[in-house]
Amino acid sequence: EAEVALVGRSNVGKSTLMRELTGHSFDTGGSPGVTREPNHYDWAPEDFVITDLPGFGFMSGVHEDHREQIKTNIVHYLEEYADNILVAVLVVDGKSVIDIIDRHSGPDEIPYDVEMFHFLRELDIPTVVAVNKMDKVDDKDERLDDLCDRLGLLPPWKQWQETIAPITAKRGQIDPLNEAVREHLHEQNRDDL
Ligand code: GDP
Repeated sequence: EAEVALVGRSNVGKSTLMRELTGHSFDTGGSPGVTREPNHYDWAPEDFVITDLPGFGFMSGVHEDHREQIKTNIVHYLEEYADNILVAVLVVDGKSVIDIIDRHSGPDEIPYDVEMFHFLRELDIPTVVAVNKMDKVDDKDERLDDLCDRLGLLPPWKQWQETIAPITAKRGQIDPLNEAVREHLHEQNRDDL
């Protein structure tokens, strides 16, 4: 069955978003870093499963080796199932994503989110960046333009509505994400004709 895969650092609101998308309740705020396998759920209105991949990045109390292992597992999963994955949703925290990216950018360091975005593109998996927690962002357009810039997409972000989807998962405000995902699904259907 065709699949939509959700990836993102821990604490960006992935469980909250999964709850909105599927209607199931997920363990939010549970013990971080507990190694989880990819979880599959039916996405009710559409005919595919949605896969929740483990959160990656810093988690307090989780050893660095373990963090690297989680990331390696995610990369392997995406490589193995790339052909089956219709769309990937990279969830980021709109409040902190720019600071985190800039803090981890350097001559021999690529921030996780940027790395994952490019990796998904290399695998030819259409990717939507769900920019969550927009309720905490004041200068929304500026923040989204900055994110485009960091991801190598030419601002303004409004030109990238199939790729950049500002949401507030906690309040169920996820229309831009649903629309972006649907655009990609329809594009692929057209290609199949
Ligand atoms: P996960 O680790 O990515 O699964 O993140 P969770 O879904 O557990 O959410 C982490 C924290 O972010 C929780 O305290 C959520 O209530 C909060 N959160 C999730 N979505 C939003 C949102 O849209 N806005 C705000 N302000 N907080 C959110």
